[in-house]
Amino acid sequence: MSNKWVYMFEEGDMTMRNLLGGKGANLAEMTKIGLPVPQGFTVTTEACTQYYEDGRKINDEIMEQVMQGVAKMEEINGKKFGDKENPLLVSVRSGARASMPGMMDTILNLGLNDEVVATMIAGNDDPAFERFVYDSYRRFIQMFSDVVMEVGKKYFEQLIDKMKEEKGVQFDIELTAADLKELASQFKAEYKKQLGEDFPSDPVEQLKLAIEAVFRSWDNPRANVYRRDNDIPYSWGTAVNVMPMVFGNLNNQSGTGVAFTRDPATGENKLMGEFLINAQGEDVVAGVRTPMPIAQMEQEFPEAYAQFLEVCETLENHYHDMQDMEFTVENKKLYMLQCRNGKRTAQAALKIACDLVDEGHKTPAEAVAMIDPRNLDTLLHPQFDAKALKAATPMGKGLGASPGAACGKVVFTAEDAEKWNEMGEKVILVRLETSPEDITGMKAAQGILTVRGGMTSHAAVVARGMGTCCVSGCGDIVMDEENKKFTLAGKEFHEGDYISIDGSTGNIYDGIIETVDAQIAGEFGRIMAWADEFRKLKVRTNADTPADAKKARELGAEGIGLCRTEHMFFEEDRIAAFREMICSDTVEEREAALEKILPYQQGDFEALYEALEGCPVTIRFLDPPLHEFVPTEEADIEKLAKAQNKSVEEIKAIISSLHEFNPMMGHRGLRLAVTYPEIAKMQTKAVIRAAINVSKAHPDWNVAPEIMIPLACDAKELKYVKDIVVATADAEIAAAGVDMKYEVGTMIEIPRAALTAGDIAKEAEFFCFGTNDLTQMTFGFSRDDAGKFLNAYYDKKIFESDPFARLDTTGVGQLMEMAVKNGKATRPSLHCGICGEHGGDPTSVEFCHKIGLDYVSCSPFRVPIARLAAAQAA
Ligand code: PEP
Ligand code: MG
Repeated sequence: MSNKWVYMFEEGDMTMRNLLGGKGANLAEMTKIGLPVPQGFTVTTEACTQYYEDGRKINDEIMEQVMQGVAKMEEINGKKFGDKENPLLVSVRSGARASMPGMMDTILNLGLNDEVVATMIAGNDDPAFERFVYDSYRRFIQMFSDVVMEVGKKYFEQLIDKMKEEKGVQFDIELTAADLKELASQFKAEYKKQLGEDFPSDPVEQLKLAIEAVFRSWDNPRANVYRRDNDIPYSWGTAVNVMPMVFGNLNNQSGTGVAFTRDPATGENKLMGEFLINAQGEDVVAGVRTPMPIAQMEQEFPEAYAQFLEVCETLENHYHDMQDMEFTVENKKLYMLQCRNGKRTAQAALKIACDLVDEGHKTPAEAVAMIDPRNLDTLLHPQFDAKALKAATPMGKGLGASPGAACGKVVFTAEDAEKWNEMGEKVILVRLETSPEDITGMKAAQGILTVRGGMTSHAAVVARGMGTCCVSGCGDIVMDEENKKFTLAGKEFHEGDYISIDGSTGNIYDGIIETVDAQIAGEFGRIMAWADEFRKLKVRTNADTPADAKKARELGAEGIGLCRTEHMFFEEDRIAAFREMICSDTVEEREAALEKILPYQQGDFEALYEALEGCPVTIRFLDPPLHEFVPTEEADIEKLAKAQNKSVEEIKAIISSLHEFNPMMGHRGLRLAVTYPEIAKMQTKAVIRAAINVSKAHPDWNVAPEIMIPLACDAKELKYVKDIVVATADAEIAAAGVDMKYEVGTMIEIPRAALTAGDIAKEAEFFCFGTNDLTQMTFGFSRDDAGKFLNAYYDKKIFESDPFARLDTTGVGQLMEMAVKNGKATRPSLHCGICGEHGGDPTSVEFCHKIGLDYVSCSPFRVPIARLAAAQAA
């Protein structure tokens, strides 16, 4: 049986997204509900996978079905592909299962060649028609060369710019039929010059090459980056949609637009979009001309506009979500080219979800499910300080394309943005317009400012998706990209000058404006409250200071899952005592130093218990290799020598004795407590004394310490340290004459701990998965250095994501699952959590839910993300 690789739009529907891609499934669905869609077909995502399996070739069976699709399309549309008299021109567009705006390729006006062009013109004596035909032809040659044959766009743009200069015009639209005819022939010559062969004139060959190019674009670098960021598997592949062209560039009775049924920046229930008369789709998206607001379309094309409003309503009622639509008007008649659930800012996502519940479109559970947890991050991004902002006067204004505030040094290229970012600089990427190749630079920038383009330009769409602040379409900027400078409000700006931009208002400021943390209220609270009703996992935070803990509590943390006690010693007054402890060579010396540390530590713990108001606090005992804390500066070494009554040489000898070849697998974690039990004793005293004091002050709080011993690999090893902790704690409690419950647990961070979890649970009252170390030790990848080679793993498709960011569920996850099962078999009351970085990653949270963890713990700003992800998992 042969496979079905091609589906006419009339054969599909929205449930076939996996096979037809989002665009294909929605074109089919729009067809099904009777909306005006030019009738074409979809080549399936499976054909894409087959293309790669066949060594990047479209096999004959697929191509045969494509040509059958073409024949049916000819029949439906009453035109013939490649025909001179009545030619059918098509667009070839990508469309994956998940939308990846701008990441893959599109070719328009396919099917044109010299003969078709000549016959078309001969059959129509309207001079505007001739202009249209040559405009379409030069666009096709340019797009085909760029997308299919990978001849850089710039060669063609240079030719256009030269032509505009010669003719003394500013916009493409002002070029005449003769100018465009000349351009088309210059383009073909350029093609030949670049590739050494003629531009392909056979439409079937053009089509095959174009479909292959779209499949190939699934694997282009920007698509790979986008997929990694958005958790889209490489194996999905993209579909290809082949559709009859409708011409927004036919004449002034035609145009093209992009619109959202609700405002994608704020969520306001109000049609938002842009429209360009006499243009093709890419003009709007690429921001070549600055379009008019959609409402203005009413004056130009009242009937098509009224029909479009009806379509919007139909689509929202059908999909029960905000729609992002592309459409074309050809000779006043409306055609729908695409619809999808629109990308939106986090702020808009929350508002739209709540409104859809209020309007009866969605249940609260569906509202919670429709918000991408990764997006919430942007809500927590800084805004300009209101006072500083009031005092500042904008020097210019563009469109507020993606909210947030950004301040940084000007850079002019995506590469520079990346480079400067790596050097620790905050940058604003200033571009004439952005193109998809800029994505990594856009990611590296604090903010993006473009001269051209509207709210739906590439820069705007991509920035919104990334949660990066963006101001687009500031036409007042006089740009000189080549010499890395621009002029605005009479001032020249160079690389490295500071500017500030406001992605909500579109304002641009000279210099630095202070930013402040975002305020969270309203819809955010509503969605989070719903999420909390659904989730089973508790969400704690990793916090070492009362300030972090307080922030996390505001964001909904239900406790501290990890307090890294060593972080409390970085401050000037404490590090001295800590170093004395490290550089002791007798127990007495060490105990004397620990005596100095105890009050600091106890005070810190008291503040944490105060901040948590009776919610659980897990305090982890000293973990890192000690050499991380030893002085390196001569003056510090001298100071330490004096305090320790030792010579500088003696201190240096101790420091060099601490050197380890493999510190991450060295003298750290509970190994420190095995060699220096007095450290564990001091930390136990500090924890228990702090808890007793706080619970005395707040008898209504449940202050029950959770002491966490890191890096165990063996039950006996854990027992040795635990016995010291228990003896010390019990003595403290007895001496205080109070009744206090506490627990002693361990971190599962070493594969052997996971493998022997059944034994370890005899000693541990709880497990917390330290998946940073567990990933490091399971893969044998250094968590500090793996970044140096992981890029090669992504490029070579060995890995799709960073195992330190997204839990490796097959390997590391298997160890976790087994540890939970065996641990609970030994001790049914065992509670289990995770406190590695994965605790705030939505996909990893889902896995944690699945294997029955009790809580995830993550950094304060990721707490809302984890709450939402946990609800979605449930
Ligand atoms: C871990 O290893 O996952 C962990 C939380 O501990 P740390 O990052 O402090 O090693
Ligand atoms: Mg660890």
